Amino acid sequence: MNDKAYFIITLLFGWCGAHKFIQKKYGMGLLYLVTFGLFGLGWAADCFRALLPVLRHKNGAPAASAQHDNIVDQLCLSLDPEFVSFVLPMIKAGLSWNRIEQAYRSSFPDSECEDLALRIQYVESYYSNSTEIASLKECGASKYRIISMPDHELCDICKRFKGRTFPVSSARIGYNCPPFHLGCRCTTVIEE
Ligand SMILES: [Zn+2]
Repeated sequence: MNDKAYFIITLLFGWCGAHKFIQKKYGMGLLYLVTFGLFGLGWAADCFRALLPVLRHKNGAPAASAQHDNIVDQLCLSLDPEFVSFVLPMIKAGLSWNRIEQAYRSSFPDSECEDLALRIQYVESYYSNSTEIASLKECGASKYRIISMPDHELCDICKRFKGRTFPVSSARIGYNCPPFHLGCRCTTVIEE
């Protein structure tokens, strides 16, 4: 299904969870159905989220757009709110990826998530990079630099960003701030 169709379905029928059923998230779909899209709030948030990719296409994505959309798709996929709300507290508590993976598998035994470890690592990277950027903002830093792990096998996306600096004020994860994709281990440091 394309982004536009998905947005329209979310807008028209999101209150009864249609978009959740389409994504095969039947539990959430049912919850939306009986709570009128989480009392309208979940519905509204989902409409907004579904609208973003539509606008992005309309405004004409920049060069390497296929790759870029790929990043964004992965971002949305990996940041499934249910997954994040389960995993993030454990990441904040400093649990190892292994422990988190075990906890997830025992709580969701039916989950067929093959790249679970990567997704956990992604959420952690997302969390640590966004807190890093927030603290840079707080201490008035103007720029940050993107650093790649020495052992990090660089894909084309990360190669493009390696060593580059960006203004802290324009930092956006997945666009000019890591993680750029599942498995990305790039990180950010303050640029003096
Ligand atoms: Zn990377």
